[in-house]
Amino acid sequence: MADSQDRTSELADRLRAVRDRLEGAVAQAGRPPGSVDLMVVTKFFPAEDVARLISLGERTFGESREPEASRKVAALREADPDGPTAEASFDMIGGVQSKKAKTVARWARGVQSVDRRKVLDQLVRGAQESLDDGSRTQPLGIHLQVSLDGDPERGGVVESELPALAEIVAQQDAVRLDGVMVIAPLHGDTAHWMGEAARIAQALRANYPEARGLSAGMSGDLEVAVAHGATCVRVGTAILGSRPILSQ
Ligand SMILES: *Cc1c(COP(=O)(O)O)cnc(C)c1O
Repeated sequence: MADSQDRTSELADRLRAVRDRLEGAVAQAGRPPGSVDLMVVTKFFPAEDVARLISLGERTFGESREPEASRKVAALREADPDGPTAEASFDMIGGVQSKKAKTVARWARGVQSVDRRKVLDQLVRGAQESLDDGSRTQPLGIHLQVSLDGDPERGGVVESELPALAEIVAQQDAVRLDGVMVIAPLHGDTAHWMGEAARIAQALRANYPEARGLSAGMSGDLEVAVAHGATCVRVGTAILGSRPILSQ
């Protein structure tokens, strides 16, 4: 029990530090308090850590691997069917294989890593099935992941391919176009990349006003992302610590 308490207080301290950084960045950018969502990225960490974070008041989580994410979300919801876990939402932020897209559409509030037609089609199908059988009540939110430098390693569509994917999302009732997600390349100037992300998100919004989201910024670069208009930052390491290598 002592270890568990230690872990909870460690998470509480790190969470407070990240929330302070985020608030500072929002103020520095002259943006309204609370205008940027914090998504806690819990990939590779056990359901117990997510439960601790829920007990600390967090409600927005990002996961990146299926089927681990499915199992983790199911375990959390089963353990706390009527408590605060019901208010927690989980988004998929990692690459999705098309054969696993349907199960993702069952547990995820949204998917931020959509960058291929084939995966999108399966997510639409899965979301529609889940709406039909009542396992979800809201359309599946979609952030289209954009590659800022064309490197396929991190995923994402290049800017020129964004409009075609956006139009498919906009035409389907089972999904909702929420915006753009980026991972800033490690090379070059982060501020330059975040500026590019902001420009691309703005261009998408001009055609699809509902696509308000710009998910950008992680442990290392959340301040730069907030300065460039991010609406959601995705933070893992700064809250949970370094990712364990073997256990999920
Ligand atoms: C792991 C991950 C994060 C979190 O990154 P940290 O550097 O650990 O904060 C954010 N976004 C995506 C897409 C990720 O896969």
